[in-house]
Amino acid sequence: MILIVDDRPENIYSLKSILELHSFEVDSATGGEEALRKTLKQSYALIILDVQMPGMDGFEVAELLSGNLLTRDIPIIFLSAVNTDKRFITKGYSSGAIDYITKPIDADILLLKVKTFHRLYEQNRELISTQMKLKEENEFRKKAQAQVQEKAKELDGILAAIPQVAFTATPAGKIDFVNDRWYAYSALAGVFPSTHPEDPDVNLAWRLMLNARQPLELELRIARTGTADYRFHLLRVLPVVEHAEVVKWVGTFTDIDEQKQVVKRKDEFLSIASHELKTPLTSIKAYVQLLEKVITVTETSKNFIDRTLIQVNKLDSLINDLLDISKIENGKLRFDLEPLLFGDVLSSTLEMLAQIYPDVSLELNEKTDARVLANAMRLEQVIINFISNAVKYAPNSKHIQVITRITPDKELYFGVRDFGIGIQEENLDQVFGKFFRVSDDASQAQGLGIGLYICSEILKRHNARLGVSSEYGNGSLFYFTMPLLEHE
Ligand code: ADP
Repeated sequence: MILIVDDRPENIYSLKSILELHSFEVDSATGGEEALRKTLKQSYALIILDVQMPGMDGFEVAELLSGNLLTRDIPIIFLSAVNTDKRFITKGYSSGAIDYITKPIDADILLLKVKTFHRLYEQNRELISTQMKLKEENEFRKKAQAQVQEKAKELDGILAAIPQVAFTATPAGKIDFVNDRWYAYSALAGVFPSTHPEDPDVNLAWRLMLNARQPLELELRIARTGTADYRFHLLRVLPVVEHAEVVKWVGTFTDIDEQKQVVKRKDEFLSIASHELKTPLTSIKAYVQLLEKVITVTETSKNFIDRTLIQVNKLDSLINDLLDISKIENGKLRFDLEPLLFGDVLSSTLEMLAQIYPDVSLELNEKTDARVLANAMRLEQVIINFISNAVKYAPNSKHIQVITRITPDKELYFGVRDFGIGIQEENLDQVFGKFFRVSDDASQAQGLGIGLYICSEILKRHNARLGVSSEYGNGSLFYFTMPLLEHE
């Protein structure tokens, strides 16, 4: 908007017409005071100011405008019929004005000047608005930076207080904070504690983690600086993610040596106990069988002997399971694989199971001639486990389906389906875990929760994949798939 200040309405009128013809918005004032009042209420791009006015003249108005913060930057074009000599022109400039036009007005020159000032005004406004935006952005960034620093300080404070060795690192993996405990295991803040020569290389794991942008969890032994006293620690590193970007890594070494020792002692105990139990049990079994031969067997004594043998066999299989567990723990569960017909192993195992469970119907869908590379005894152990679980966890059903087939990927599929208590969805993942038993087991069946774990370890060594599906209350299907020998 342009403000025209002239005491003569006809002058205002003619100027206004010229400017409005060229699409400028125009306002007017007929005296200095009115002009000053208007400039305080409204912002103008330019003021065209008549010098000679009754009361306050143009120069006085310009001086007052230049003294006010709100108005001092508005460009002014003086209009004068008389003050054409240099003295007046100079006076005009020194009072803050920018240009000067004499009357009679040349419309072209006026327009040229108005357009120039107007453009300048627009550019100036854009500049100011850009500056403001920049300032705002800058402040926002500063604030965000301060917040990040504040958060980092908070995190460092927490990490300083926890009992673990703790550190943080930049997204690129440079360690930028370590707590005091760090120095018990490493002399330098930027260098990981040295690990036991037999344990995974922490620097390599660190690099892999950075590349994958995934959390890291590693059990390793680290020693206090200057000693060879290695203790087991759990190294856990998590990314701090903001707006889908890793902004920091936070890591801790937790001393788990105590737990490790307890587990080791438990494993040792299991191993020794099962070995020690095995020998006398084998003798008991042999003597009972001998007894059956040397005494005159009556119906009652036969019954007692049979029952004793059933209990001895149960104990024997329990001890075998415990022995297997300790072998797995020590990496000693080893057996040879040889080419065999799966159907042969299955039919002999089913025959045996039919004797153990005479009132259960084991329905085999078809005979298979699949050849696999396997260990017959261990495969038998898996089949027995699947089927005895199917019996054990289906107390009200006497029907079990045994399924064999060749998959489209040319693998052997073996499954055992029961119609028993089933397994809840949330427990499905865990049934193959060591010592896992469903706690609300509706069947109240007894067990140690290691059978399926041993099966999974046996099947791993057969290159086989194990699975389960179940409908809670309606039964379960345990299965594995194993490569056929022709496709090994
Ligand atoms: P155990 O039978 O000695 O407890 P397993 O390792 O064989 O140990 O099985 C682990 C757990 O999985 C069992 O305790 C039981 O809760 C569940 N489970 C296994 N087989 C079945 C099945 N056929 N139906 C329902 N639950 C089962």
